Amino acid sequence: MEIDYLIIGQGLAGSLLAWELIQRQKKVIVVDNNKENASLVAAGLINPVTGMRLVKSARVDALLPKAIEFYQQLSAYFQQTFYIEKPMLRILRNNKELVTCKKRLQNSDYQSYISEIIPSASLITTPFGILKQQKTGYLLTKPLLEDLKNYFVSIHAYIQAGIKYNDIALTPHLHWRNIRPKKIIFCEGYLACNNPWFSWLPFQLAKGEIISATTTQFIPQNILNYGHWFIPLNSHQFRTGATFDSVNLNLAPTKTAKETLLASLHQVYPGFSMPSTCAQQTGIRPTTLDKQPFIGNHPKHPELVIFNGFGAKGSLQIPWYCHCLADSLLYNLAIPQHSNILRYNQMLRQ
Ligand SMILES: Cc1cc2nc3c(=O)[nH]c(=O)nc-3n(C[C@H](O)[C@H](O)[C@H](O)COP(=O)(O)OP(=O)(O)OC[C@H]3O[C@@H](n4cnc5c(N)ncnc54)[C@H](O)[C@@H]3O)c2cc1C
Repeated sequence: MEIDYLIIGQGLAGSLLAWELIQRQKKVIVVDNNKENASLVAAGLINPVTGMRLVKSARVDALLPKAIEFYQQLSAYFQQTFYIEKPMLRILRNNKELVTCKKRLQNSDYQSYISEIIPSASLITTPFGILKQQKTGYLLTKPLLEDLKNYFVSIHAYIQAGIKYNDIALTPHLHWRNIRPKKIIFCEGYLACNNPWFSWLPFQLAKGEIISATTTQFIPQNILNYGHWFIPLNSHQFRTGATFDSVNLNLAPTKTAKETLLASLHQVYPGFSMPSTCAQQTGIRPTTLDKQPFIGNHPKHPELVIFNGFGAKGSLQIPWYCHCLADSLLYNLAIPQHSNILRYNQMLRQ
């Protein structure tokens, strides 16, 4: 069977790219092993201004409108809301953050993302005040990926299988099983580290753990950010996370992560009655050395393409980069240099 693109991996990267290419009338098949999917664990948070230095994410002015447009298009198609826009309260943790925050409020570049510092909010403890952030929200990754999977199945564009690299033949023509794609696009998340064609790329993976719980208490309806984050899903259910561990790269939930996340929440929100039972999930983020995505053709085998490296910001970044990769595949437009894997090409030659 001849097709345009075989996409390996049905995480957020593979799913949104497949959707984009199908919208552009391309014949696509997505293959996934239904195993270690970071997107299903992710909180889907979109936060344009992050870190202790409250810096605007790179290219956010372009990435955010594209992400919102993309998720709205999917919502219209599936008749379901996937992106929940909600303001965020950033709880300032020390005087340095407060000073930085005041500086940012003077900066017109930040105007649409942050609005004011308030001294306190109901039940929240903070001696340094709270920054009100806007244009923040979260993506419901699980229902989105489920709907997309059902859609791919319905148009015969989905195969559940684990691809073994030895089963991919490059000659006399590219094929896997009876499928002859023009290109194979690898969207394998952190498992790309084992990919013989792309393992030379400098991934810097990071395990993350998240807690989901229900409480009898009415919970605050803003997203909270205090080093960790707290996302209210409804009046009694919430998620909190995420830990960041670049050493223990396994999927085992840890007691330490659970205690750290709950203690951190208790510190800013002492009146909160901690739930007795919590669900704990883990995943591994496909983070990269320079924090930029890994996109592009293999330097020696241009029929093999990678679309990966979205780190901790998949929900914000993937829609815009889907558009860039589709333009490159269809019209040969250049992939933005900062994300093109050719920036690391010399590593391959060493
Ligand atoms: C705890 C945690 C919290 C996070 N929170 C956020 C957040 O709040 N906001 C945000 O934007 N991002 C967040 N992220 C990051 C986000 O999850 C990633 O950016 C995004 O999920 C990456 O998507 P992906 O498609 O590249 O990888 P994945 O979602 O991991 O998908 C890869 C898929 O490929 C499949 N696969 C791999 N190899 C093969 C093979 N050989 N054959 C078949 N299938 C294969 C895997 O099984 C998997 O289904 C978080 C991540 C974690 C772990």
